[in-house]
Order: sequence, then structure tokens, then C-alpha cells
Amino acid sequence: MHWEEIVRVTPELDAWLRETRRYLHMHPELSLQETNTAKLVAGHLRELGIEHRTGLGGDGRPLFMSPEALRAAGIQPGPTTGGNGVLAVIRGERGPGRTVLLRADMDALPIEEQNDVPYRSTRPGVMHACGHDAHTTILLGVAELLQQLRDRFAGTVKLMFQPAEEGPGGAAAMIADGILENPRVDAAFALHVDSTRRAGEVSVSPGPATAAADTFRIVVHGVGGHAAKPQTAVDPIVVAAQIVLALQTLVSRETDPLEAAVITVGKLQAGTATNVIPDRAVLEGTVRTYSLAVRDWLERRIAELASGIAQAMRARAETVYLRGYPAMHNDPELSTLARQVATELLGPDRVFDREPLMAGEDFAFVAERVPVCMIGLGVANPERDIVYPPHHPRFDLDEDALAVGVRLMTAIALRYLGAA
Ligand SMILES: [Zn+2]
Ligand SMILES: [Zn+2]
Repeated sequence: MHWEEIVRVTPELDAWLRETRRYLHMHPELSLQETNTAKLVAGHLRELGIEHRTGLGGDGRPLFMSPEALRAAGIQPGPTTGGNGVLAVIRGERGPGRTVLLRADMDALPIEEQNDVPYRSTRPGVMHACGHDAHTTILLGVAELLQQLRDRFAGTVKLMFQPAEEGPGGAAAMIADGILENPRVDAAFALHVDSTRRAGEVSVSPGPATAAADTFRIVVHGVGGHAAKPQTAVDPIVVAAQIVLALQTLVSRETDPLEAAVITVGKLQAGTATNVIPDRAVLEGTVRTYSLAVRDWLERRIAELASGIAQAMRARAETVYLRGYPAMHNDPELSTLARQVATELLGPDRVFDREPLMAGEDFAFVAERVPVCMIGLGVANPERDIVYPPHHPRFDLDEDALAVGVRLMTAIALRYLGAA
């Protein structure tokens, strides 16, 4: 297979990719606020003459959690700023066939960038620290190539530019707007930047890819009082401390050691003064799992442990458990296809296995409905100190990876549609 003749990134396109990624990096937008990014995407699709729909993703509400559930957990539902999702459709000129969806996410994170680079974020406290600037740029590059190559394939390519990956579940909102129908999507691919691999390398494996990411909040109600008269109070801090320790036994003592699970209490708040016993303590944390049975078990047991311990200590505990992104598994056949194409494009020494992550990813909502494959795109360059992981204030990427991502995703779509 002579991919060089088919999927070529010209020097002009490569320059455009670098420039576009830098523009997006300098103008990051938080989840549910990606209006300018969505405008840029739609504008470029228009220039390329590609059919597309804008305003997808409903009113931006996090569809996988009800606003009531969020409020019960002490989380204010996000602003409803309008759907920023964009869906492009490229129809092959060789007639009907299968439909493949390629996905990029567009949102940034509430992080102050610490890189001293000319393309540093211009927005205080907002940064593209998860590489979604690169994902968006790459998918626009793919759009350009596939639009030029439509005489080569049958079937349809859908390009999903989604808002709000970093928490609210923008993918679920776009799915609710029907993006997987008309024509029905048969398979979906996405890539994510990977700072554990060098630019020019990729990783893909079948099976577990990203974990279910849930949240819990436990409120311990005690009885406040004077710190010097504990016998007249019920100290919620001591109860909360027991609960924190007991939660650690759920993974170590009640979960199958061969099943991955994490429980982390990331937040513990109580009290205002050294000489006062407060009347309540609040614990918040995250649960990561792959197996649905383990997820169900932990959801039940966290609440049971908390209320049982509180009761034994004369207090009362209320638990709210919020299911976040589900776990995602890479489809075996699609993973084989992606790996084969990557090997042909980059050579066998640049294609690696991908370890399952305990991080969550809302491409999992697509995976609940169609077979998917998520690929890791290496972006590290240790010689230039580009080594920091996503969500780090010094995260950056080697832009040589942009053209690799464009060629890879284009080639995967063509192969899936039987064109190459
Ligand atoms: Zn992220
Ligand atoms: Zn990400």
C-alpha cells in the first residue's frame, strides 16, 4: 500500500495545521463555552465546501446527570450557553456504503499555563492542557484530505467536533441530537494526544481503554459544640476520618484484585476554628472502574459504609453517588484495522500497545452505541522538554505530530470504507 501517494500532507497544509493549532492554543475556551472554536471549525468547513450542521449538543446541559442530581451533590449545573457541537458529513462519490465517524473534542481546562512559548494561552486561567487544540486541528486537516479524496470511496464519513469533553459530557449531548443516525454510524474512531510517546509514534490496543469515572459526596451530620466539651457533641471530623480509612478497604478487601478500581477522597472539609467542634463534615471523591459489577458494588458499599460508620458513632451520613462517563473498550476488529494502517503508514517500530487508563473519556458515550477505537498519538519531545502529561500547566506538544494524526485518521477512514 503506497499511502504516500494517497494521504499526503503538503507543506502548505502542514503550515496551516501548525498555525491553526497555535491560534486555538492561544484562544482556549472552557467546556460549554467553545463558541469561537466552533465558529472557526464551521468557517473552515464552509471554505472547504463541506456539508455541516452547527449548534449541536442541545443547550449544553450535561445530559448524563440531571441538574437535580448535580445540585444534590452540591454542584451547580453549568451555564446553558447553547450547543457548540459541529458535525460535518463527507459523502463518497462511489455510491452508498458504510458510515464511519471520526471525533475531535474542542474544550480547554481551567489551568493557568506555565509554558513560556510564543503561542502561550492569552486567557488567564484557561489552557489547552489536554491537547484538544491539536485534536480539533487534526480533524480539520482530515476534512480537507477526505473532501479531496471523495472520488475514491463509497459510503460516508462523519466528522464530530464536540464541546465539553472535560466533565459535562458533550458527546452525550450531541448523540441526543441524533448525530449517530441518518445515516447510521457503523464505527467510530478518535485519537488522543499521548505524552508518554514521542511525536511520530502511536499506540492502540483492543480491550479496556478508559475507565468509568464517577463522583461521590458524603455529608456527615454530627452535633457541634465546644472543643473542650466533646462529651456534649458528636464530632463529625472523627467520623469522617473513620469513613476515609474504611473506604480504602473497599478496593483492598472487597474488590477482585484482578479488577481495576480506584477510590480517592480528593476533598475533605470541616470546621472553622481550633476550639469548635463543627456540626458537619463533607467528603468528596472519585471512583474509577472498568467492570459494571464492580461499579455497582462500590456505589452501594460506599453509601453503606458511610452510613454504618456514622450510625455506630452517633452521627448520620448522607451519600450522593453520581455516575459520570462510562468505561470504554476498544473494539478488537477496529483496533486491528487501526494498528495495521498505523504500521503501514509509520513502520512497525513506531506502533505500540496502549495501556488502559484509569482516566475517563466521554467518547465512551459513542462507544455505548457503536464499536469504537481510540488511538494514542505520541506528542512528546524530550529534547525540547515536551514531556509533561495532559492536565499539567506545562503540557505541550510537538507539532510534528499534527501531520501524523491527519494522515493516520484519513487512512483509517479510507481503509474502513474499503477504499485503500
Ligand atoms: Zn482532559
Ligand atoms: Zn482530553
